Amino acid sequence: MTRRKLVAGNWKMNGMARDLDAVAAIAAAARAHPDVDVALCVPATLIAAAASRGEGVWIGAQDVHANDAGAHTGCLSAPMLVEAGARVVIVGHSERRADQNETSHDAWAKAAAAHRHAMQVILCVGETEAEREAGRAERVVQAQIEKSVPEDATGDWFTLAYEPRWAIGTGRTPTLEEIACIHAIARAKLRQMIGDTAAGIRILYGGSVTGANAGAILFTENVDGALVGGASLTAAKFVPIIAAAAAGN
Ligand code: PEP
Repeated sequence: MTRRKLVAGNWKMNGMARDLDAVAAIAAAARAHPDVDVALCVPATLIAAAASRGEGVWIGAQDVHANDAGAHTGCLSAPMLVEAGARVVIVGHSERRADQNETSHDAWAKAAAAHRHAMQVILCVGETEAEREAGRAERVVQAQIEKSVPEDATGDWFTLAYEPRWAIGTGRTPTLEEIACIHAIARAKLRQMIGDTAAGIRILYGGSVTGANAGAILFTENVDGALVGGASLTAAKFVPIIAAAAAGN
């Protein structure tokens, strides 16, 4: 089955109004490469403005509450994000698992909430360095998938991102063989859970992707795109990754 590549940026807690020119430049690159889907998950404060400058890019959020409304101070719901202009949301990012104690069950509930409001979902899984060194990377990722992937997931709205925590923001990446191994295990786990539908689900790799390594990583077996943190902050760094995804099409 052919799956379109998805290159998704995660600006994390970075980005001010003065950075919106980067959104416009990234959007121009996305329009120049229509065979690749491009997403940019900006801070919630920038979603509306980014949506107005980002034609051709799925502007998105980095988190969503599992409920649609209510007494949850400081949180944002899927209807609010959609109204602001978000089409996609990241859930279960390892920084939220670490900083906000989010669990795989939380990621599952957030994914379901986003789907109820027709958002695209990018759900993150990945092992710590200690877990990899203990030979547990495969089991950790399988368990996270089992607990967090909604039973009605399809490629129309759901994307999995494999992000080894030790590779995020460190400049270190797994070997291509290690990436291929976990992606194959992730796809097999999805197939076990949801059957043939799993073939349509994109599995992104995330963790220190740059313009220099994107070409090799993006065309490793079962890699359907990239989730990019640091290198998504400027068009100069992000556009080469979009171009690398397009180059193999
Ligand atoms: C991320 O935070 O999802 C990420 C992949 O970050 P970086 O690309 O900076 O490693």
